[in-house]
Amino acid sequence: MSKEQKIKDSQGFHVLIAAAGSGVRAGFDIPKQYKSLCGKPVLRHTLEKFMGLQGVKSIRVVVGEDHLPLYNAAVEGLALCPPVLGAGTRKESVYNGLCSYTVAEQDDIVLIHDAARPFVSRKAIDALFESMETSCAATLACTSADTLVTQGYKALDRNAVHAVQTPQAFRIGALKAAHEKFKHDDSFTDDAGLLAAMGEEIVLIPSSRDNFKITTNDDFIMAEKLMSSSMQTRTGFGYDVHAFDPAPATHIRLAGVDIPHNKKLLGHSDADVVLHALTDALLGTIGEGDIGQLFPPSDMQWKNADSALFLAEALKRVHARGGQIVNIDISLIAEEPKIGPHRAAMQSRLAQLVGLPASRVGLKATTSEGLGFVGERKGIEAKAIVSILFPADME
Ligand code: MG
Repeated sequence: MSKEQKIKDSQGFHVLIAAAGSGVRAGFDIPKQYKSLCGKPVLRHTLEKFMGLQGVKSIRVVVGEDHLPLYNAAVEGLALCPPVLGAGTRKESVYNGLCSYTVAEQDDIVLIHDAARPFVSRKAIDALFESMETSCAATLACTSADTLVTQGYKALDRNAVHAVQTPQAFRIGALKAAHEKFKHDDSFTDDAGLLAAMGEEIVLIPSSRDNFKITTNDDFIMAEKLMSSSMQTRTGFGYDVHAFDPAPATHIRLAGVDIPHNKKLLGHSDADVVLHALTDALLGTIGEGDIGQLFPPSDMQWKNADSALFLAEALKRVHARGGQIVNIDISLIAEEPKIGPHRAAMQSRLAQLVGLPASRVGLKATTSEGLGFVGERKGIEAKAIVSILFPADME
C-alpha cells in the first residue's frame, strides 16, 4: 500500500445527504427523493453509491420531519447515522446537518450531496476526495455541450462556464463557519458558493453530465432509462450441507437464529448451513471463490465462529464493487426441526444481515419426503440464490 493511500485511509470522509426538500418542481405526490426509480427510492440509490466505498467514515441524511416514515422505509437495513431534521431551506438544512458533527470531527472532510443525484460515480467521488489533500473546498462540475447565451444573445465562452453539481467537499468546521457568516443571505444555492464568498479557492473536479439532479418529471423519465442501462444484473447460487451432530444439544442455529432443538449441526464454525449457502451465492456473483477458500476449516480462528462474519465479508466484497442486492431466495431442506414457527424470525434476521426489507428475502422450508440423507434425518441442506445489480462497466 502506498504512503498516500495510507494517509487517505486514515483520514477518510463523512457523507451528508441533503434530502429535506419537498421537491415541488417535479409535481409528484411524494418528494422526488422517495419516489421509486427502477424499483427503489431515489434516496436509496444515492446512498448505495457511498455504501462500502473506501474511506467513508459515516453517512447521515438530513430529512424533512414530515417525511420520516418515507425515510425510514427507504433506508431500511442500511447502516447509517441517525437522520438530522431539516429546516425551511436547503441552506438551513445543510447547516443543521453540519451541527450534528462532534467537536473532534470539525477538521474532518465532509462530502455534501443532493439526494436527487443518484448517478454520481464512485470514480468522481474518489477524485473529489483526493483533491482535498491539497485544497480547502472542491466540487464536481461539468461543462456544457450546448451554446450558452445571455438574454441579449451574447454567447458565453463554454469553457469558462461550468454547471456545478454535488458532491462538494469541505472541512466541516470551515463550512460551518461560512454558513454562520452568511446565515441571513439567501442568495446562495450551494455550499461551495459560501466558501468562495469567504475567499477560498474552489477546485472544480470534472464530472459527467449523467450526474444530473432529478428535478422535473422529464428528468425522472431520463433517470429511469439511464438507471436501467447503467447496471448489469448478476445471479449467484450457493449450496451447503451439514450433518447432525450425534451428541445431544439444546438448540440449532439456522439463518442466524438459535432455534430450540435437541440436535445441532456438525461443523467447524457454528455450522449455520443457511448462511453458508447464502455466503457462497454472494461470492458467486463476483467470482471470488467460496466460503471454504476464504475461511478454511483448517484455520483455528474460525472454530465455532458466528457465520454472520462470513456473510459480512462476502457482503463487503459485493458492496466494494458497487453491488446492490435486489433480492435473496433460500430453500431449506430438512425433516427437523419444524421451521414454520421460526420462519418469520429467520426471515427478519436474514433481512437485517443483508440490509434488505423482508419483502426481498425469500425463505422456504421443505422436507425431502423421507428420501435421501435428509429423509433419514442425517443432516440438513440449504440452497440460496441472489440477484445483484452491479455497475455495467464492472469486469
Ligand atoms: Mg458449510
